[in-house]
Amino acid sequence: MIRNDQVDIDELEKTCQCVKNYFIEISATDRKSVEIFLALLDLTTAYIRSGAKEEDMIFTADEICNESANPKTDYQAAKDFVSRHKKEFDKFIESKIEEISHFCSLNGVKFLPTINNTDSSGGRRTYFYIGLVPMAAKINHEVGLKNTTLAKQLPVAIEYTVPQLPKPPTWAKPLLNLEVSGWKLYFYVGLPMLGVVFAYLLMIWNVYFISSLSVMAAVLFVFIVPSLYLLLQPFYEAMNNRIAIAPAWLLSFKVHNAQIRAKKIEKQKPGGRSYRALQIVIHKATCPICNSEIDIEQGKREFKGRLIGVCTESPREHIFSFDHVTKKGVLLR
Ligand SMILES: [Zn+2]
Repeated sequence: MIRNDQVDIDELEKTCQCVKNYFIEISATDRKSVEIFLALLDLTTAYIRSGAKEEDMIFTADEICNESANPKTDYQAAKDFVSRHKKEFDKFIESKIEEISHFCSLNGVKFLPTINNTDSSGGRRTYFYIGLVPMAAKINHEVGLKNTTLAKQLPVAIEYTVPQLPKPPTWAKPLLNLEVSGWKLYFYVGLPMLGVVFAYLLMIWNVYFISSLSVMAAVLFVFIVPSLYLLLQPFYEAMNNRIAIAPAWLLSFKVHNAQIRAKKIEKQKPGGRSYRALQIVIHKATCPICNSEIDIEQGKREFKGRLIGVCTESPREHIFSFDHVTKKGVLLR
């Protein structure tokens, strides 16, 4: 079946791969219309690998539905499904036209994909395939100009994954991995208050009944409190901000960068709010600029108060935001 709009296979692969990367970057891969496109792309790619000719890269609605994990009971249902989402796909591309054409032009791509179908008149079966539309036909001059000025401001996004929840050392287990409730919550809240009460009592003791013992107690207090603070500070930070940098003494030698998070657990408080458990967690990401590993660090200077993702290769420039809830980040510099 020869079509009148055949395209170059190299351009087809290049364009589709680029658009696929774009969909991944904006997290649009779970849209049905995008699923249809990606299924068509997978089928097409398999055909390209097998040495098939471009004109043969046409597929039935059933094939596309099965490939995209949206199986339908009969041919008509499959055809309706693909036809509907084919239109959705074009609309989606249209709605993102500025961003997508900019993203593609940065990668040297000159086309945009569209889902086409063969003529079905006269009771013939409909086949679907990926077509290419020259980008210049889709965007006007004005948009093109605007995009070049925006080129440097496009945020580079990264995604964090959690590959491991490292086990804490045995002695630290009481501090972690257990729900923060009951006596433990009172302990966490009460400890700083206890410190204040002790400080007050020590002051009274030294002001009114000063002795060598009272001075010794005060000196001891001055040493113990900061060390206790340093020791427990990450746990308090994790409780307050839900995530904190795990101190090195809490980690095994194999782990060099980890965090403590206060994760919601199933069990609920009487008021309906969830209890939280503290756990050690590793977030991993790869720098999209240089492919190096990203470490989560405490932000300094303009990023004070935040945790940031810092590239191990270019720690001054490849700096990303870090959101442990969405597990996403954008280039901050
Ligand atoms: Zn980097």
